[in-house]
Order: sequence, then structure tokens, then C-alpha cells
Amino acid sequence: MTIRAGMGYDVHRLASGRALFLGGLEIPFSMGLVGHSDGDALVHALIDAILGAMGEGDIGRLFPDNDPQTRGIRSTELLKDVMARLKKKRLNIVHADIIVVAERPNLGPHFPAMKNILCPMLGIRRDRLGLKAKTNEGLGPVGRGKAIACWAIVLVGKRS
Ligand code: MG
Repeated sequence: MTIRAGMGYDVHRLASGRALFLGGLEIPFSMGLVGHSDGDALVHALIDAILGAMGEGDIGRLFPDNDPQTRGIRSTELLKDVMARLKKKRLNIVHADIIVVAERPNLGPHFPAMKNILCPMLGIRRDRLGLKAKTNEGLGPVGRGKAIACWAIVLVGKRS
């Protein structure tokens, strides 16, 4: 099996008056992530990691943020599109590992529900999706609770 690695990063600002979507899950919180789509930085980082492993550029090239078609779209719909592209290339996800950096809310309790959404979409078992939450120790905009950042790495395999 040929293995390729891809990495992704994303950050979105938090603002009141928006629902918070992370990992495809709506999480009860006083603020939500600002974006052209639902602002799901976790799914965006994951998509960029998958596209990187596929050698297909990045999320902004595939889904431009001035496209009225994707305004307000759930990011899981974009992930579905990317997974279809992956399958068309006869590639599959081997493993993914994701770090979410957020001061608030406490995300750990939501990880099982995120796995319920993401693992079937990625076609991997629960133990092949790593989800980790960190704070930024009060440093910078993320540390002040103004934004949430995500890092993702994905291994993609092709049977030869
Ligand atoms: Mg984004």
C-alpha cells in the first residue's frame, strides 16, 4: 500500500449570534465561528489535510469563499464532496489526527458525538480518528477566546 500524508490548518473568529459548528456537530455555546460556510474550522482543517494528501490544492481553491452556492453551507457537505473525489481516485483514509485549540467551550465531552459523525464519513474506525483539545494558555486571539484554531494530519492509502 502506498501511503501519503496531508496536513491542514484553519482558524476562524468567534462571534455572538452564530451557532457553533465543530467536527460536524452543533455545540451549545454563546458564540459561533464566523465564515462563508458554517465556519467549522475542524472540518476545514481536515479537508485541507485530505486534499494535501491527494495533491489537489486546498479548500479555498475548491470551494471559493465568494461562491454564493456555498454560502452558509454545512462543512460536512464539503467533506462529502472531497471524500467522493478521494474515492474516485481509489484512495482511502488510513488515519486522521486532529488538534482543536480553543479556550472555551470544553470540547472533550463532545468528541464521541463528533466521531459518530466523522468516522462513517471518513470510512474509518473510531480508533483511527484522533481528537484532541487544547487551550492556548491565554496567549493571542485564540487564548483570549476570540477564535478557534485546528490542526489536522491525515494518512491516505492506495492499494497497489
Ligand atoms: Mg475555514
